[in-house]
Amino acid sequence: MSDQQVVDAAWARPVPVPDDVTAPFWAAAREGRLVVQRCARCGTFQHPPRARCTSCGGEPVFTEVSGDATLVSWTTAHDPVVPGRPRGLAPVVIVVVELVEQPGLWLVSDVDDAAELRIGANT
Ligand SMILES: [Zn+2]
Repeated sequence: MSDQQVVDAAWARPVPVPDDVTAPFWAAAREGRLVVQRCARCGTFQHPPRARCTSCGGEPVFTEVSGDATLVSWTTAHDPVVPGRPRGLAPVVIVVVELVEQPGLWLVSDVDDAAELRIGANT
């Protein structure tokens, strides 16, 4: 994602601006699929997307993953944490999950409700 910021009027929040490295991730997301990069040389998964494998410098290839994960952490942001996000949309429940495909393969997202969140729970 570039540093450029675009605000979607319907969502009233910033939306990602895909670049050459992140475009496949966002295209899959629009289709309801979760993909992360996996190195063609060493097999290491990595996220967020990068131009090269952070383990060996190899070529990362986007691979669909299960979406199964364990909740690592979460917090509720009562003030807007993203520039441009209107105060009326707070609070936001931000979660960090570890995908089952690899220890340390974390993904940050948000959820609608913190009531059912338990650290270590499978999502
Ligand atoms: Zn690698």
